[in-house]
Amino acid sequence: MDLGLRGCWALVCAASKGLGRGCAQALAAEGVNLVITARGADGLHLTAQSLRLAHPGIAVRAVVGDITTPQGRGDALAACPQVDILVNNAGGPPPGDFRQWDRDAWMSALEANMLTPIELMRATVDAMAERGFGRVVNITSSAVKAPLDTLGLSNGARAGLTGFVAGLARQPRLAARNVTINNLLPGAFDTDRLQATLRGAAQAGATTLDDVADRRRRTIAAQRFGTAEEFGALCAFVCSRQAGYLTGQNLLIDGGAYPGTF
Ligand code: NAD
Repeated sequence: MDLGLRGCWALVCAASKGLGRGCAQALAAEGVNLVITARGADGLHLTAQSLRLAHPGIAVRAVVGDITTPQGRGDALAACPQVDILVNNAGGPPPGDFRQWDRDAWMSALEANMLTPIELMRATVDAMAERGFGRVVNITSSAVKAPLDTLGLSNGARAGLTGFVAGLARQPRLAARNVTINNLLPGAFDTDRLQATLRGAAQAGATTLDDVADRRRRTIAAQRFGTAEEFGALCAFVCSRQAGYLTGQNLLIDGGAYPGTF
């Protein structure tokens, strides 16, 4: 299916690896020009180069910077001639116990996982509406639907974003102008972040990485972790012309791990 996105420009935040890179790859395959960001220059330029080689017909601009800072956001926006598609993403907050988290810990989580996506939407959605097309995808977490005790910073900050998006997406000045805003909620995907989490759990439980990974896989109906390609494919569809009637939704992609009917 042609998703009708050829020639659009997308800003994909935090895209040197993992889920962000999966989204960038899927959009590139649809002929979308890209601005991708990450903090580490080497990894970002490698990803940009591999995207250019695989898709010579598109432009790929790499912007090194921390997307949670005004400078990082300003540089990313300045590199994009127009933002038709915005994929909001950043690293997740660390796990822990809420008794250890002071105000600074909360402010960092809120900056990364709530206020940064809101700032980027503020900078882009009205121009999308004027042009009559726009797609925003926020990468959040399955923890929004089924909170994990140790991920309190993520549960709290992402719930704030989710509540805000529920209202914004339903503004007629956006929805009636073909601007959609949706959240993708990943379960367990085989990325560096998941590997780091599993390594931490193995050390804490004095067991092996394989053991922890096997036990985690067994909690998922699909009995495996998701891939960044699968995540990217969903992102590309949500950004498609065909998905213009899909807005304000929280789409869980977790291999059937969540046990509820809805
Ligand atoms: P990852 O560690 O594999 O990749 C993270 C990417 O974000 C890298 O490119 C990194 O350079 C970039 N990045 C991180 N912080 C940044 C910042 N401040 N500015 C710019 N770039 C930044 O992680 P991932 O697994 O792809 O996770 C992406 C998001 O999805 C995270 O917020 C994570 O918490 C969430 N998530 C992931 C999973 C999973 O199973 N992988 C599950 C639920 C939620």
